[in-house]
Amino acid sequence: MRRCAKCVLPETYPGIHFSDTGVCNSCLNYEAQKIEGVEVLKKRLKPFYDKRGRYHCIVGLSGGRDSTFVLYYVVKELGLNPLAVTIDNGFMPDQIYKNIERTVDILKVSHLYVKQDITASTFTTTLKAYLVKPNPALVGFLCNGCQGSIKKNLSSLAKRHNINLIIGGGGDLVGGGGEPEQSFAEGLVTKGINLKNKTLSLVLGSIRLLLGNWVLLNSPLTLLSFVREAFYRFVWNYKGLNVIGLFEYIGWNESEIDMTIKEELGWERPKEWPINWRADCKIHWLKEFLYRETLGFTKNDELLSGMVRAGMIDREEAMRRLEYANDNLPENYLGELVKQYGLRLSDLREISHKWRVES
Ligand SMILES: [Zn+2]
Repeated sequence: MRRCAKCVLPETYPGIHFSDTGVCNSCLNYEAQKIEGVEVLKKRLKPFYDKRGRYHCIVGLSGGRDSTFVLYYVVKELGLNPLAVTIDNGFMPDQIYKNIERTVDILKVSHLYVKQDITASTFTTTLKAYLVKPNPALVGFLCNGCQGSIKKNLSSLAKRHNINLIIGGGGDLVGGGGEPEQSFAEGLVTKGINLKNKTLSLVLGSIRLLLGNWVLLNSPLTLLSFVREAFYRFVWNYKGLNVIGLFEYIGWNESEIDMTIKEELGWERPKEWPINWRADCKIHWLKEFLYRETLGFTKNDELLSGMVRAGMIDREEAMRRLEYANDNLPENYLGELVKQYGLRLSDLREISHKWRVES
């Protein structure tokens, strides 16, 4: 497969084109992210140290590496007393629960679990829809409910505890945030739709995708749940609350994050998963499998491309890391996972290859 001569994005990446010298448009249009700096952050945080309630802020803790680091930094470097909150979608690996317990114990912070069952309620239907009409654009819908639940719960907990500040990795508090990644998932949904308004393109693309699938057409509750999620993603906002994305101020430094959480908090990667990134959700693992089987690359390829562009690693290291990660996706584990929902990984693989041949 052809890849960009500068980063490692492949020719199957949505919207990609290459220059005469084989460099992709993402590299050609790249602008380095501006880091605000710790002093700017401290200045912005100043009013929040005079707290009215028990906590200074809320930190969403998925148990993955970025949010674990954010919590560490908030406590140890910023000296704030946070309420840590984990929104549990039911797909967290066992090791991640252990990481969370150890982290909040060492940092001595109050911690809450909030169970959300929206993601689980549409997971099987979405996979069945994929099996009758495979399309990598549908893969993103496996995460349905997660972003909306995070936003809604963090916001209502903040209000309940009289907290006016939410600190996460990136500004939108979903996804790790801060890493140099883009999102090709949206490009898959909007493929061929050339409207200036991105949200409108996504809405039209989603309607085209979802209404073209009889499994989803027969499941109005699933479709309604997708609409709810879209509302939280694109319309709803944290009005009245201050939201800070830590990495926008201190930068995102992979080796510092990895080292800190391992040495200071005893963080461990789930043994089934080959890399430290996105170790916190089994659905993400399945998505990487489906992307690999349809498009021949994964979200991790995209992350590594961004890291090359940002000068964090060189192309050679990115190639080595993506090959290792993509060769070591936990297929046996994922087989067991989908079996619980009456499905077979071999069927998902087969139908994915069919899509690849036909498209
Ligand atoms: Zn490139």
